[in-house]
Formats: sequence, structure tokens, C-alpha cells
Amino acid sequence: MADFYQTLGVPKTASQDEIKKAFRKKARECHPDRNAGDPTCEERFKEVNQAYETLSDPEKRKQYDEYSRLGAFGPGAGGFRPGAGGGQGFDPRIFQQWQQQGGGATFEFGDMGDILSNLFGAAATGRGGRRRRAAAERGADLQADVTVSFKDSLDGVTVRVPVDKPDTCATCHGTGAAPGTTPKICPDCEGRGVVAQNQGPFALSQPCPRCHGAGTIVEKPCPTCHGSGVQRRTRRYSVKVPAGVKDGTRIRIKGKGEAGQRGGPAGDLYVVVHVEPDELFERRGDDLVLDVPVTLSEAALGARVRIPTPGGGKVSLKVPAGSRDGRTLRLRGKGAPKLRGGGHGDLLARVRIAVPEKLDKEQKELLERLGAALPDPRAAAFG
Ligand SMILES: [Zn+2]
Ligand SMILES: [Zn+2]
Repeated sequence: MADFYQTLGVPKTASQDEIKKAFRKKARECHPDRNAGDPTCEERFKEVNQAYETLSDPEKRKQYDEYSRLGAFGPGAGGFRPGAGGGQGFDPRIFQQWQQQGGGATFEFGDMGDILSNLFGAAATGRGGRRRRAAAERGADLQADVTVSFKDSLDGVTVRVPVDKPDTCATCHGTGAAPGTTPKICPDCEGRGVVAQNQGPFALSQPCPRCHGAGTIVEKPCPTCHGSGVQRRTRRYSVKVPAGVKDGTRIRIKGKGEAGQRGGPAGDLYVVVHVEPDELFERRGDDLVLDVPVTLSEAALGARVRIPTPGGGKVSLKVPAGSRDGRTLRLRGKGAPKLRGGGHGDLLARVRIAVPEKLDKEQKELLERLGAALPDPRAAAFG
């Protein structure tokens, strides 16, 4: 482990002011513009930052001096660990953000201490702020509706589904600040996102009212997203609707929901399929019901009739003699394709005895003679 005084280039007797000045100088030396393509740049910044964190805190500095006096940095020594509150580790995002923002030039290196980490920490997560950095959050699930024709529901079809979802603003890349500007650290909470409220013996932390807990404030909002950092955009997804899909079937498309927060996974997209009703066929599970009109004589005497199938062809149906109105005849495997497990449902042909509405004189006479010849149905029903 390097000597922190050497890292900052100050004598062991340096004052707090000298340490602060030395840190500013060293930090600027790590500026990416001066270190183009130098991979040790980040490492050096990290060391400088760590040295400053320790030496700028009188308590930690005292501990450090004590340790180095005892030879804690000699061969085989365990090294120095700052006391309570220190040693939180170094977040590489802080460095990246610092680089993006010009390597310190835009920051006021006035009151360092904890503010430094708040400053970088809050900026590193954009609007999220330090307080909310910890937990990754899964994105929300989204739902989209799509309508397919009855025929497509039987054959399967690929559809384009438009999905309106929030996305990172393309103009400001999510910072909410107008191009050429960056969010500023909130002066009320110094980037913490919370403010302490002393009420008697209790110290309560409240979300900062100025920045609403973000830790940063946007002085000039991005014109595209009005400072929210979020832009709704319509994405179109190609969705394969499988053969045999029913009205209301939900298709899950993994990872196409809203984006996750802070590295969390994206949510899922659920596509709800609506099937247009058909004029002839009615879906019942994997079966299809078809009404088959027959004449009274066909129902009474039996007949072979031609009926349409959902596939578009025709098949012959045997109507047994003495079929009552509403009798259902099953044609195996002529129904809808099954979504899982393959195969098809059945076609249910429902016999419908057609009653003629308009009759000419001759037809009337024939029916009257037929009626008189047949047994009285009420005598059978009521006795
Ligand atoms: Zn604030
Ligand atoms: Zn924007």
C-alpha cells in the first residue's frame, strides 16, 4: 500500500489546507484530456481519492499516522483500514462520471470531505441519486393487445405489435438536463437526497423537498423530455401467434417490458390475442361448432349433406334418420388445432331443422296433407 502523504505529495506535517490544495492538483493531473489512452489514469485517481479521504478527516488521519508509526505498511503487514465510516470502497462509476463531466473543471472544489463522494455519487447515478443507488429493480411488465382473424387463429400468423413504453430520453441520455448542461448538486441536501429534521429527541430524515430526493437539480430542463429524463417511444415487436390461439390467449415475451432500474432486468411483455368472430364456426375449447340446416324430411328420413370445414374444404356429413333439431354430430379431428400437444379438436355439426317462412299454394297443400298423415305430437307429449 502506498504512503498517502507520498500519493498526495505533501509532508507529514501538512495542514488541512495544504492537503486540500494537493488533492485538487493531483486530481486535475488525472484529467482524461491529459491522459489520453492511459489505463493507469483511473487507478491513480482512485489512489489520490483514497489518500485524500483519509488525510482530510482529522480522526482518520490520526489513526493512519498511528498505524504507519507502528510499521503497518511494512512487508507482510495487513495495511491500513480507516475507522468507522471509512473504507466504503471505490465506485468506478464515480470516475467515469467525473471523466464525462470534464474531470473536475465544472465542480466547485470548495468544501470537500463527504461532499465529494456525494457529489460524484449523486452524479454517477443521474436522477437516481445516492440514496436509491443500492437496489436494482426489475422493470414493469407491459401489456399489448392484438386482433387476428378467425382464419389466422387456426393457421397461426406473425404480427407486428406496437408497444408504447418509457425509454431513456435520446436528447439528454436520461439526465433531464438540456444539451450542454449537467444536473447540479442540490444545494439544500448537498446531494444526499434527504434532509434531517430535528424534532425533540428524534432526528428524522425526510426526502429533500427541493430535489424530491434525487440529490440533483436541473436548472435548464431538456426540451425533449422537459427534465424527466424519460421519453415515451413506440417500439414494434414481431410476435408469432401460434396456430390454435384462442380469444384472450396471452403470449409472454420475455424481457420486452419496461427497462429495469440500476441494472435490474427488464420486465416482460404480455400480448393478449383477440380473435375476430367467424360467421360460421364458433369456438368451444379446441372444438368448433357449426350449425347445419336440414329440411324436415332430411331430419326425419336421414340424409348425406355437404358441410364446410374450418380449413376451407368440404366434407360429407351423415344425418341419421329421426334426428331432432339441435342434435350434435361429432366429426373427430376436424376442429381447431390444439395449442399444446398437437392434434386437433372436433367439429361439432349441430342439426338445425329449417322451417320455411314463405310457402306458395301448392307447398301449403302438400304440408297440410303431410301434417294430417303424421301422428299428433301433442298426443304423445301430453296424453
Ligand atoms: Zn435536495
Ligand atoms: Zn431529455
